Formats: sequence, C-alpha cells, structure tokens
Amino acid sequence: MNLDDLPIRDDLRGKTPYGAPQIDVPVRLNTNENPYPPSKALVDDLAEEVRRVTGALNRYPDRDAVELRADLAGYLGHGLTPDQVWAANGSNEVLQQILQAFGGHGRTALGFEPSYSMHPIITTGTSTEWISGVREDDFSLDAGKAAAAVAEHRPDIVFLTSPNNPTGTALPLETIVRVLEAAEGMVVVDEAYAEFAREGTPSALSLLPGHPRLIVTRTMSKAFAMAGTRLGYLAAHPAVVQALLLVRLPYHLSTLTQAAARVALRHRAELLGMVDTLRRERDDTVSWLRGKGLTVADSDANFVLFGKFPERRRVWEGLLARGVLIREVGPPEWLRVSIGTGEEMAAFRAALEGVL
Ligand SMILES: *Cc1c(COP(=O)(O)O)cnc(C)c1O
Repeated sequence: MNLDDLPIRDDLRGKTPYGAPQIDVPVRLNTNENPYPPSKALVDDLAEEVRRVTGALNRYPDRDAVELRADLAGYLGHGLTPDQVWAANGSNEVLQQILQAFGGHGRTALGFEPSYSMHPIITTGTSTEWISGVREDDFSLDAGKAAAAVAEHRPDIVFLTSPNNPTGTALPLETIVRVLEAAEGMVVVDEAYAEFAREGTPSALSLLPGHPRLIVTRTMSKAFAMAGTRLGYLAAHPAVVQALLLVRLPYHLSTLTQAAARVALRHRAELLGMVDTLRRERDDTVSWLRGKGLTVADSDANFVLFGKFPERRRVWEGLLARGVLIREVGPPEWLRVSIGTGEEMAAFRAALEGVL
C-alpha cells in the first residue's frame, strides 16, 4: 500500500513535504541556523530551570504563556504589551494558526515568490488557496505592482517576508504601507531574520499602531540560536491574538518550551552577541562571491543567495562531496548558503573553489 491508496484529501495528492535534507556532514550551511551553540552559563541556567519546573510536570502548562509573552513584549520594545504578543512552537505554528483563523476553504493567501517555501505549504495545508505574486528580476518588490496585485486578488491574507528568504533583502516600510493600504484582509510580515538586517533597516513593528490588520512574526530559531527549542511569536493588535485563541490547541506550548524560551531571553545579550560577527561574515561572503565573478543578491539575513549556475545540482553535489551542505532552493540557477563560523565559511570557500 502507498500514500495514494489512502483516502487523503484531494488537494494533498501529489504534494511533496517540506524537505531540507538533514545530512550528517562536517559543515552544515543549509537551514539558516545560528552556528554558535549556547554558552555554558546558558546551559547551566536552563538545566537549573528545567529541574525546577520538572517537579510540576504533572500539571498542564500555563495555557496562555503569560510570563513568556510579557518577556517577549519586553524584548520587542515598541511599547508592546503582553496582550499584543502571541507565541507557539516555532513561527511555522504561529503562521498555521493565522491561516486557521483567517484562511481556510474558499479563502486565499497571496505571497510574492521566490519566498519562504512554508508559506504556500501551510496555506494549502489549511485548505486555503495560494496565489503567487511576482518579484522584479533583482528579487525586489515593486510597491506599486505589489499593491496592484493585492487590489486585484483581494486575498484574505498577504505574506510579506522581510528580510526575504531565500533572497535575503529587507523591504522598505513604504512598500509595507502601500500593501496595507491596498489590503482588505490580514497582512503578515514574516521577520524571521529581522535581527540580521543591515544598520538602519526598520521593523514593521513600528507600523503596528494604526494598522490593526498587520501581524509581525518573529522566531527564536535564527538570531537567537535556539532552533531546537521551537519557539516562534508574533506581535499584532490584541484582537488578533484573541482570534488565534479560537484555533490554537489547548496547552500547545509545553512547560519546558516556555521555560527554555524565558531562559534564552534572559541570556539574549550573549545569544544576540554573535549576530554582529555573523553579519560581518555575511558581508565578507557576499564580497568574496562577487570577487569570483558570481551574481549575488544583497543580504540582510544570515544567508546569501548566489548563482547563476546552469547546472546548480552539480555545484550542490560537488560541495556535498567536499563535506559542505548548502541549500538547493529558490530560482532554478541559484544556491543559498547559510552563514556559519569563520572556519565553516573558509571550508565553504575552499570547497566552492574546488568545484568551480
Ligand atoms: C526559518 C524561517 C522561519 C522560522 O521557522 P520556525 O518555525 O520559527 O523555526 C519563519 N519564516 C521564515 C521566512 C524562515 O526562513
């Protein structure tokens, strides 16, 4: 028996699951994780906290994660209060809850591709129809065209990703405002990489006052170096959070997850301390790749999209054979490398020179 023999939903037939390969190689630069593991101080603090809360694991967790949301609001600033913040198991779950509350059968979501592959996957997974908008040749978003696409399709949800994955560049606030003005539905700005943006890049958080249908999502998986914790969150109008309460599973965030996220937030100075190092490494990687005559997209994130390779599979495999795993993603002739430690990037450069 195989999958097709099962009575699964028609709209799931023939689909492929999210599939960044998890291969055990020396240099893993394919899922935009932060390469720096937690410090001993954080590990000790977390172990102590886990010991403390384990004594109460016979009880369900705080269903509304009140203390965590207060800590997250404090971290985000912008005058945000806990009732404007919501958290779940990774920002992917946050996005799924948004789709469950505002999408669904007979509704649509619009995104501008190439962008984060999970947006269409979560969209169709919730029986929402996906509409693909386009970007310019340099992957930027033309504000006028984006607003026109929103006005034409009148989607229930618009996805903007800033900085965008896999292309790397952030959106000017004017573009987000134009889309908000054109949209009748919810506008989600996915800011998974906000902390890596270049100096002076504003966050859509500053647009929350006066825009009650704006949702800004963030994650602890990237800059915060906590991908294994699974903690994503959003900031929005309190009414949006109330809408999500209608669809979330009760007790969705475990006691251990809440504790780990709060410890990480206490250690944020140290965790985010590596962001500057990663940014410098990113800018050096962009320059080096350009020096090799390659085409490279500007990056405000912890990865770089480069090309163009008529046979990108061959380049990807050549790097893998040399112990370096990057990501075959985005437009056909491009590859994406996540920024690792200085040593890992040296290994990447050596491997790529070998392949080219
Ligand atoms: C990595 C990423 C996420 C984060 O997902 P989590 O579920 O929080 O790990 C969200 N959006 C984008 C654009 C990403 O690249």
